[in-house]
Amino acid sequence: MAAGTTPVAVGVAAIGPLDARAGRLLGPPNVGPGYRDLDLATPLQRRFDLPLYLERDTNVAALGERAFGAARGVDDFVYLTISTGVGGAIVSHGRLFLGATGFAGELGHIPVALDGPACGCGGVGHFEALSSGTGIARAAREAGLTPPAGAGVLTAAGVAGAERAGDARAAAVMTRARQAFAAAVVGIVNAFNPRLIVVGGGVARAEGDRLFGPAREAIAAQALAPAAAAVELVPAALGDDVSLVGCLPLVNGGGQPIAAALDRVS
Ligand SMILES: [Zn+2]
Repeated sequence: MAAGTTPVAVGVAAIGPLDARAGRLLGPPNVGPGYRDLDLATPLQRRFDLPLYLERDTNVAALGERAFGAARGVDDFVYLTISTGVGGAIVSHGRLFLGATGFAGELGHIPVALDGPACGCGGVGHFEALSSGTGIARAAREAGLTPPAGAGVLTAAGVAGAERAGDARAAAVMTRARQAFAAAVVGIVNAFNPRLIVVGGGVARAEGDRLFGPAREAIAAQALAPAAAAVELVPAALGDDVSLVGCLPLVNGGGQPIAAALDRVS
């Protein structure tokens, strides 16, 4: 923190699903039982006598991209991150679209393939199961690929490298990941009529136009024409610290303070 500044609020970007108003993580997959129904509000309350804000990391990232990044000045857009998993956020009329109970925007769990594979959430054929780094690596292992020399585990980057080196099995896995991404963004364009789809995350950054190109073609060819004409698919601008950056707009009008914690203060 810079000298001479006084903190006025605490913003927390955390993995979902979570209850933003109660300040609790509910049961995020893949991180173990210690995070299930975890109360973040009480320990933060003890440490900081300040307004507290909690929101899903991808929602905070969307606020960050809107305030400082690729979606500056844009009121209607969708944010996606393609990394270990696939996360999302929807901004409508300049506000986070939260849904009836705060879970809206879990766009990685859009079904794109009726025949699988299994998704970490328990669903089948979800966008995340096919296009995430975890999904790419798993599909490649099932296709018989092994880690590159010197690497202990097979990662999405390893699969992409094998594709560039001419491995047909790796190419098939990466092609399916791109097709799943393209199908998902066509659905997103039709469902939300966004001005932008901003895509961040390590897999998207590494793949660049190899991922974006086929998806742009799919939007032009398959999405409903008025919605397709309105949208641009663009890379995120803020990199891995996007959720940290997004905590500023989160506490500055973009989010709701944790109600339970505030009630205990008063
Ligand atoms: Zn899923």
